Amino acid sequence: MEKRLGLYIHIPFCEHKCDYCDFYSLTKFDDYVRFVDTMLLQMEDYAAQTKDYIVDTVFIGGGTPTVLPVKRMLEIIDGIYRNFNISSDVEFTMEANPATVNLKMLKKYRKAGVNRLSFGLQSAIDTELESLSRIHTFDEFVDSYEMARAAGFENINVDIMYGIPGQTRHSLGYTLEQVCDLEPKHISLYGLKIEEGTPFYNKRKKLELPDEDTEYEMYKYAIDYLAFRGYWQYEISNFSTDGYKCRHNLKYWDCQEYLGIGPAAHSYFNDRRFSYKRSVDMFMDALEYVDAGIDIIEEDYTVTAEERVDEYIMLRLRLTEGIDVNEFKEKFGKDFGAMFEKELKLYIDNGFMEFKNGHYSFTPKGMYVSNYILSSFLSFDSDIAKNIANGLDK
Ligand code: SF4
Repeated sequence: MEKRLGLYIHIPFCEHKCDYCDFYSLTKFDDYVRFVDTMLLQMEDYAAQTKDYIVDTVFIGGGTPTVLPVKRMLEIIDGIYRNFNISSDVEFTMEANPATVNLKMLKKYRKAGVNRLSFGLQSAIDTELESLSRIHTFDEFVDSYEMARAAGFENINVDIMYGIPGQTRHSLGYTLEQVCDLEPKHISLYGLKIEEGTPFYNKRKKLELPDEDTEYEMYKYAIDYLAFRGYWQYEISNFSTDGYKCRHNLKYWDCQEYLGIGPAAHSYFNDRRFSYKRSVDMFMDALEYVDAGIDIIEEDYTVTAEERVDEYIMLRLRLTEGIDVNEFKEKFGKDFGAMFEKELKLYIDNGFMEFKNGHYSFTPKGMYVSNYILSSFLSFDSDIAKNIANGLDK
């Protein structure tokens, strides 16, 4: 059988750092020529190792890929097509900030092969966008969205956030309504997390954050409202119209192979999970001066048979379809229900999980607290679990 691979390209630059964000990205950087040259070098390094693979999903994320000069981004896209076997039906996503796109650029990317755009909107209310220190208004987002449509993008995702300072159930409802009216194919809904080391963390006591009950109300409301508008939840934070689930992200949750290019990128390839350090300078030096022995590996380990079971549980339970007990038995020769009889009974009795048609899965209430519940199914090092989750986030 043909081997399939997802490709993730990390562009670690942003025009401005949002106060809540802990992704690796720089706001002051000029040497895009050198950066892109080293990204191309890394692609060339991987070309031989991946020659037996068909790449059927590509995801250019960040950071903000659309801050890269168009000429440089086209070189990256060209490098992807030159170095990898790209499937004719590839899902090719690029993340975009509504403040950093224009029609000409979007037309060029569409023509070059990008066929899915993912816009970081977060809210349709300008005061909420301001509180997040986003650099665009809602009207600017709508303009960018219309440009994307005019450039030929049919498959568009919009990111929305709940738990924003000052946000209410009602204001989230307004955002959901405005976004659904634009009819994107896919919507991602993330809860704001206050991450250590961010400006939000430092001023966390002063932020007017919704309390936990309100946040749960928001999440539950969003699931119901999105279903009413034809967006079906298929993962903790992801909703799609028929036929438009994100194929690239599904690879993460299905434990399929993917390769990350660029500083801070994570990979799961040849039974190894590995990632690169969060440093553009080290990354460029290491690829340019190969004999200098610069170590850019942040972590690197081979996934053991036991870890593979744990990863599968952790990742599959993020999906609304959950764990198919027959598939689990086939893959690992074990009875999932018997392995976790006590835990499953507790979670089902308390409305966090359900068992339907041979699948164990989270209810919306369980999805909301899934991070806590998942740890009780894991036997391996929780740091590894955390690293996998971080890799999925970026
Ligand atoms: S949220 Fe997005 S745009 Fe804002 S700093 Fe993080 S990566 Fe950049």
